[in-house]
Amino acid sequence: MVNLVGIIGYPLKHSLSPLFQQAAFDHYGLPFRYQAWEATPKELGAAIARLRHPPYRGANVTIPYKEKVLSLVDEVDGEAKSIGAVNTILRKDGRLVGYNTDAPGFLWALREEGGFDPRGKRAVLLGAGGAARAVGVALLGAGISGLTLCNRTPERAEALVSHLTTIAEQRSWSASIAAIPWEREHLKDALSHSHLVVNCTSVGMKHSPTEGRSPLEAVFIPKGILVYDLVYNPLDTPLLQEAKRAGARPLGGLSMLIYQGALSFQIWTGREAPVAVMMEAAREGLVG
Ligand code: NAP
Repeated sequence: MVNLVGIIGYPLKHSLSPLFQQAAFDHYGLPFRYQAWEATPKELGAAIARLRHPPYRGANVTIPYKEKVLSLVDEVDGEAKSIGAVNTILRKDGRLVGYNTDAPGFLWALREEGGFDPRGKRAVLLGAGGAARAVGVALLGAGISGLTLCNRTPERAEALVSHLTTIAEQRSWSASIAAIPWEREHLKDALSHSHLVVNCTSVGMKHSPTEGRSPLEAVFIPKGILVYDLVYNPLDTPLLQEAKRAGARPLGGLSMLIYQGALSFQIWTGREAPVAVMMEAAREGLVG
């Protein structure tokens, strides 16, 4: 019997997951088919309920449902609970278990591709949506000493600061966590004291209203800082171009996408994912 897995989100037309996940299953000759399951908010409950029975094995969940599915699964893994978002579901003994592989996927890419160990370092996060939540929890858990959040809508940054502060207290993680206004001078000052900046906004994403725009200009980016853009389409984002102009180190979002997918693959199959195969399929999908 062929196992079915897929990605649930809305809209889904630009998702690369079907491409690189299917390449991974085919590489091992596993009887899995990965599909795109676009679901409107009204259809979400039925899309999740369907996963409870064979041939469904699980799913990825993406924008805008990562938070909503927490209440639709039977059990939520500890890290996904801390983050407040699920991006991977596994059907296990008839029950649905929710996981978050964005946070470990982010850290894997940060260490492997960025050569960056967060312990004792300071970071600025741009954005306060689902990705920023996962990145914030990941960095705190990895021993970051200072986290500065900056978001266009300041109330969301403040809310994320209080969420992360609560998690840090519960886990006895010591770090200073604060929000600053989305203003040039505040950002410039915070960046001058930081080792890492992560763009967790969608600014610069292809097919979005901000396509071609960078959330930061080169003049604000200190030389030598690691500039990590979670946006992966285009591969060379406007922010990464500004980073290079400033003499900073650029890191794009494709490796995180692949690593979070590799961890989902491991959850569904129990096998180590063929990361290089997945990366090649995704690159082909982006440039080809
Ligand atoms: P989200 O929950 O919708 O949050 C979007 C964030 O972008 C919010 O902070 C929003 O600010 C900000 N934003 C949107 N338009 C903006 C603009 N014109 N100016 C300034 N800020 C703006 O989305 P998400 O799930 O966090 O995802 C954010 C980005 O990360 C997306 O591009 C996504 O593709 C990427 N991502 C990549 C990976 C990966 O594996 N590489 C994984 C997850 C996400 P407001 O609060 O002010 O609206």
